[in-house]
Amino acid sequence: MQPKDMHPSTLTAQAGGAIDAQSGGVVPPIQPSTTFVRDRDYAPLNAANIYARDHNDVARQAEVILAQMEMGHEALLFPSGMAAIAALFRTVPNGGRVVVQSGIYWGTTHWIREYCTRRNVTLVEVDASDTAALAQACAGRKVDLVWVESPSNPWLKIVDVAAAAQLAHAAGALLAVDSTAATPVLSQPIALGADIVMHSVTKAINGHSDVLGGVLVTREHSATWDEIKQDRATAGAVLGAFEAWLLLRGMRTLPLRVERMCANAMQVAEFLMDHPNVEDVFYPGLPSFADHALATKQMTGGYGFLMSFLVKGSRDDALKVAGRLNLFHRATSLGGVESLVEHRHTIEPHTGIPENLLRISVGIEHAPDLMADLAQALGQ
Ligand code: PLP
Repeated sequence: MQPKDMHPSTLTAQAGGAIDAQSGGVVPPIQPSTTFVRDRDYAPLNAANIYARDHNDVARQAEVILAQMEMGHEALLFPSGMAAIAALFRTVPNGGRVVVQSGIYWGTTHWIREYCTRRNVTLVEVDASDTAALAQACAGRKVDLVWVESPSNPWLKIVDVAAAAQLAHAAGALLAVDSTAATPVLSQPIALGADIVMHSVTKAINGHSDVLGGVLVTREHSATWDEIKQDRATAGAVLGAFEAWLLLRGMRTLPLRVERMCANAMQVAEFLMDHPNVEDVFYPGLPSFADHALATKQMTGGYGFLMSFLVKGSRDDALKVAGRLNLFHRATSLGGVESLVEHRHTIEPHTGIPENLLRISVGIEHAPDLMADLAQALGQ
């Protein structure tokens, strides 16, 4: 069976069929060399490898798997999620126009705002989970890029990707989707019409909180993609071989981890919803959640591992709950095998995040242990 015919679970478990031809090893070798020799006629021994700034074999192997999982044409790995986002936005011409979802990962918003100011790019921020509002933001003027994040972090809003693609294309723009909180296991934005999919692979794709990386996947070959690819190679922003190797290893269990994290998250969300000291829970899997129906239509196999909830009471009450947790580590980030909790208002105090909001990333632990930890921290 060719890797292209494999189910994602088979593809990732077998690392895209990576058998090391030289040693026979069932895991790919890591080649840390930064430079590669030429023969006496000055031909490279391996034409793909000249100098490690533009690419490396393990990154290529991981990219093939990611492109296939996203049903895309090609993938490019970067040394962080933000580096991947920046690589895409750098293709927007000076004086251009971008439409960006509001209330998304603060690091993205913060960087885009600064960048657009520096480059004289008009930035329109809109709640893209409201399709009518997105339509209005895209109407009437040429747009270069529409950027959405689904599910969004930390509100878990769901964007109708098919509708967003139509609106973006009608405005002459590409649609790019940050699908980090969905992973390629739960959703494939390209199949819904997106042009570019982005992930922070730092999160669930690697899944072990030990690699920083990002990826862009394109639907098809395009001038924009060529620009990104050339810039990554010549300006030097490929994921290093060690990180790519760890990523490939982490990805071998991706579908399995996501399945368990989703099952755990659903139980945790229901538990929180019923708790008297919880005011509200934002999780796409809950039927009471505003975007539940769209999430059910757009995501397959689960609703993800990320959720936010409001502790009844003040900022202090929320921080006390976080402080009493024993299993959920108080740390930023998401998507790892270990559960994490974060008080987002501390990180982004001026963006309207409620002071009593806690965001949690649910890991692969035993769900009853996680609920017992939350129960003792919430009291009652
Ligand atoms: N996108 C989302 C949704 C994120 O949560 C993050 C990081 O938290 C990023 C992008 C940025 O990724 P990285 O931290 O790998 O640069």
